[in-house]
Amino acid sequence: MSTVIDTHVHPANELFFEQGGESLEHALDYFGKDLSPEPIETTIEKYREWDIDKAVLFALDSRSNTGTPPIPNDWVADVRDEHDLFMGYASVDPHMGRAAREEAVRALEDLDLDGFKFQQAVQGFTPSDRRFDDLWDTLEDLGKPVLFHGGHTGIGAGSPGGDGLMLKHTRPIHIDEVAARHPDLTIIIAHPAWPFHQEQLSVVTHKSNVYMDLSGWLPKYIPDEVIHYAKSRISDKVLFGSDYPMVAPDDWLDDFENLDFDEKTREMILHENAERVFNL
Ligand SMILES: [Zn+2]
Repeated sequence: MSTVIDTHVHPANELFFEQGGESLEHALDYFGKDLSPEPIETTIEKYREWDIDKAVLFALDSRSNTGTPPIPNDWVADVRDEHDLFMGYASVDPHMGRAAREEAVRALEDLDLDGFKFQQAVQGFTPSDRRFDDLWDTLEDLGKPVLFHGGHTGIGAGSPGGDGLMLKHTRPIHIDEVAARHPDLTIIIAHPAWPFHQEQLSVVTHKSNVYMDLSGWLPKYIPDEVIHYAKSRISDKVLFGSDYPMVAPDDWLDDFENLDFDEKTREMILHENAERVFNL
């Protein structure tokens, strides 16, 4: 059994449901999932059963845009400290200006978290907006990976006005600008980024500091063009992530077997690329 690193994991507990609010309920309907909160210990047991070696757990702070309570950085750091399964990504609300930058520094220097997670539709911001340059400067100095959301989101899907969430924020081309201005910032764009996947493939191919994950979509639903690139031009820049609890990693990994990746590329996607990006 080879090493597997799941680079995209949400806590499935009460904090996740409170943070997601009604838009998360809409996402669960959209994914056809009937989930109720599970304690993090249950998630850990499942990950052990699935033979997953490492998992990157996300905080999320979107209080300005959604008015819901954050999944706190301190909680993610505690869980990471107590369970060696996890690495932990911090979250800051980009609308909070200097307070966001200070929290970013605290999350890395005091809590020793391993990177940052942003969800632009939920947090309601466009990364290329020059207002956020200072935040990207700060994160670039901190030297850890930053994960942005790419493309369509299930959050708010199927509700009137999509719960007010805007898909324009999720276009990878906005991340291209951040990558261009911050060449020392390591960026991962989450998900295959449909319907903007061609844009994302272009950015990942063009910018050596930009990577992507394959989370949120079972392999059989990932656009062929993304799979083609993952097998060839950008095989060193594609990471496995599940998007648990939206997609269970065992389902993803089973389905991945059907896509005929050669052994070498498979190993790169399931763990080697992540080991390099995360300096493991
Ligand atoms: Zn996610």
